[in-house]
Amino acid sequence: MKDKLHRTVVDLAKPYRVTSGKKFALKDFATDADGGLRKDDRTDELLAQGVQLISDLQERLYADDQWSLLLIFQAMDAAGKDGTIKHVMSGINPAGCQVTSFKQPSSLELDHDFLWRSNVALPQRGRIGIFNRSYYEETLVVRVHPPVLKAEKIPPALIGKDLWQDRFEDINAFERHLVRNGTVILKFFLHLSKGEQKKRFLARLDEPTKNWKFSAADLKERKLWDDYQTAYEETIAATATPHAPWYIVPADHKWYTRLVVAGAVVQVLDELDLKFPKVSREQRKALREARRQLL
Ligand code: ATP
Ligand code: MG
Repeated sequence: MKDKLHRTVVDLAKPYRVTSGKKFALKDFATDADGGLRKDDRTDELLAQGVQLISDLQERLYADDQWSLLLIFQAMDAAGKDGTIKHVMSGINPAGCQVTSFKQPSSLELDHDFLWRSNVALPQRGRIGIFNRSYYEETLVVRVHPPVLKAEKIPPALIGKDLWQDRFEDINAFERHLVRNGTVILKFFLHLSKGEQKKRFLARLDEPTKNWKFSAADLKERKLWDDYQTAYEETIAATATPHAPWYIVPADHKWYTRLVVAGAVVQVLDELDLKFPKVSREQRKALREARRQLL
């Protein structure tokens, strides 16, 4: 039986889950939603409960050793990817989890197809893999900056008007393949407003302990805000599927972002109905024998 707090955590994420691109529009999702909650002791307790549940479920995932979980985080700068990963995953055993941050591709990576570098970073069975940015950059930053596409050295004969559509198709097929082989995929878009991004950039400039987070490159990307929003909207619409859903997570309130992500992770792990491996009669006998020898 799930207790009330457990159900509340799980329910939090449901309104933000997108499994089909039909009728999808970013404007239908508020960046400042807070689920009617206010940050207080109760919301802190909810997050603590979510973190504890994830910790328990991860232990089962690891013991069960069949499924893996891939969590993908995409967002504009300063939307809180790092902080969300840090808080939501704070209870899990580092041995069962791996975070990969995808940056501009290296020259070796550019010498391969765009999914190549993701393959080696995928989580093993029993593990949680977190992609801080991902192959989704291939229809976001690469689309917004044409010279970046040029650097990919794709034969010009293969670059046509369907390029982005083809990439969506390939990404969907890649994810379908992973899901069919036991990887559960959740994709999070931390949906931030332009106004809140400005506030967070200013804080990075004004507070000495945050100065290191500021990068002049972020300002350049901010000027392309609308292009990015369009690219995100089209990407999400084309790649939201029942087997690899997107969550459009309100990101103007950091505490709420964390709650929603925690809720989604708990829900999906709950659904796997993970059990600790059963011990057979023979194994039990062997355990008794081991005990006897120890004594
Ligand atoms: P933070 O700024 O919080 O450290 P970040 O994810 O923004 O996190 P950066 O090092 O600032 O990390 O930026 C990484 C950059 O790499 C982003 O601008 C992203 O768009 C870019 N990038 C990631 N994947 C690709 C890709 N496949 N092709 C081109 N650029 C990419
Ligand atoms: Mg950055």
